[in-house]
Amino acid sequence: MAGELGHILLDPAGPTCGLGHAGCLEALASGSALARRAREAMAAGAIPADSVLLALATDRPPAASMLAAAALQGDTWALAAWQDAGQALGRGLASIINTLDPERIVLGGGLTAAWDLWAGAMHEALAENAVTWPDRACDIVPADLGDDGGLVGAALWVADGRA
Ligand SMILES: [Zn+2]
Repeated sequence: MAGELGHILLDPAGPTCGLGHAGCLEALASGSALARRAREAMAAGAIPADSVLLALATDRPPAASMLAAAALQGDTWALAAWQDAGQALGRGLASIINTLDPERIVLGGGLTAAWDLWAGAMHEALAENAVTWPDRACDIVPADLGDDGGLVGAALWVADGRA
C-alpha cells in the first residue's frame, strides 16, 4: 500500500475522504471533494442566491464540472472553492517534493479538467512550502489521460492477465 499520496494529512479539522480520513489531500483537493463541498454549502444555504452554480445545479447534484463551468462564468464562490483546492494540492505536493525531490509530477483525476482555475493557487502554496522552490522547481503537468488514467490502467492490468 505504499504511495497512497492522496491520503497524506493536511488538516485534521478538515472534511473526510471516502476512506474516512479527516483532512487528507483527497478530501480537500479532488473533484469529489469539490462536489461534496458544494452540496454541503447548498444544503446549508451558504451559497449566494445569485450564484451561477445554484442555477446549474437546480435539477441534479453539483459536480466538479458544474463548479468549473460556474467559475468560468465568474461565480466567486465556485472560483474560491477551486483556489482552496489548488492551495491544498500545493501544500500536499510540497510535502511530497520535500520528501522525494522529483523532477516531474504528473497529476490525473477530476481536477485536471479545470487546471487553469487552481494552478495559480497551487504554485503559490508550492512557493511557500517546497524547500526547493523556485530554484529547482519540478515540472507539474496534467496526465495525458486526465480523469481516465485509473480506468485505463485497470483495463490494462486485466488485459495483461494480472487480475
Ligand atoms: Zn483519505
